[in-house]
Amino acid sequence: MKIAIYPGTFDPITNGHLDIIERATQLFDKVIVTVAVNSSKTPMFTGEERVEMIQAVIKQKRLTKVTVERFNGLLVSFAAKKKATAIIRGLRAISDFEYEFQMALMNRKQSNKIDTVFLMPAEKYTYLNSSIVREIARLDGKFRDFVPPSVYRTMKKKLKN
Ligand code: ADP
Repeated sequence: MKIAIYPGTFDPITNGHLDIIERATQLFDKVIVTVAVNSSKTPMFTGEERVEMIQAVIKQKRLTKVTVERFNGLLVSFAAKKKATAIIRGLRAISDFEYEFQMALMNRKQSNKIDTVFLMPAEKYTYLNSSIVREIARLDGKFRDFVPPSVYRTMKKKLKN
C-alpha cells in the first residue's frame, strides 16, 4: 500500500489543490490531505472549517482514496506515523521552486525514508493560489471558477457575516 501525504494550509482548498490531489490518486493507493494548523499565517478559516470544506469536496468528487487530517508539528514525524513514503507538493512556476527545494531537502535531512514528489497542475491553475482567491472574494470580485462549488458557497456565507 503506497501512502502519500499532501500538506498545506488549504485556506481554502482551490481547484489547483484539487487538481494535484486527483493526480496524486493516480500514483498512490492512499492520499492524506494534511491541513497545517500551526502556520504563522493568520487564516481566513479555522483548521476545522478547512478540514470540513475538504471533506465535502472529497465526498462530492467521490475520491475514495483520499482522507483529510489536521496536523501540527513536524511533518516527517506525522508522515512516519501514517506510514507514508511520499510528501506531495504542487509546483506552479519557477517562483515556487526555491522554497519547495529548501523544504524538500530539509525534510530529507529529517528523514531519508520519505521523498517529496512534485506534481504540476493543469496550466489553467498555475496562476492560482488561496491568498489571491481570498483577496478577490473579500473585494467582492469574481472567484467562482477558482474553487469547488461548495467552497464558493462557504466563502460567500463567511464574507456575508
Ligand atoms: P503553503 O501553505 O505551503 O502555501 P498551500 O496550502 O497554499 O501551501 O498549498 C499546498 C500545496 O499545494 C503547495 O505545494 C502548493 O505549491 C500547492 N498548490 C497551491 N495552489 C496550487 C495550484 N494552483 N496548483 C498547483 N499546486 C498548488
